[in-house]
Amino acid sequence: MAKKGAREIVALVCSICKNQNYGTTRNKVNMDTKGKGKLGLKKYCRFCKKVQLHKESLKLK
Ligand SMILES: [Zn+2]
Repeated sequence: MAKKGAREIVALVCSICKNQNYGTTRNKVNMDTKGKGKLGLKKYCRFCKKVQLHKESLKLK
């Protein structure tokens, strides 16, 4: 299994309570980061108990 470094793993952090609820991978090659480079996703936060905007945070290894 040869892996190339195009994908990086990032954490998704709730923008309200700052808990890290999800991890995701993003493909640097495909991702168009013109304008704003941060990825934002609406996901369910179990701490807020509702859907919140989650932002890309620290990179995981
Ligand atoms: Zn939250």
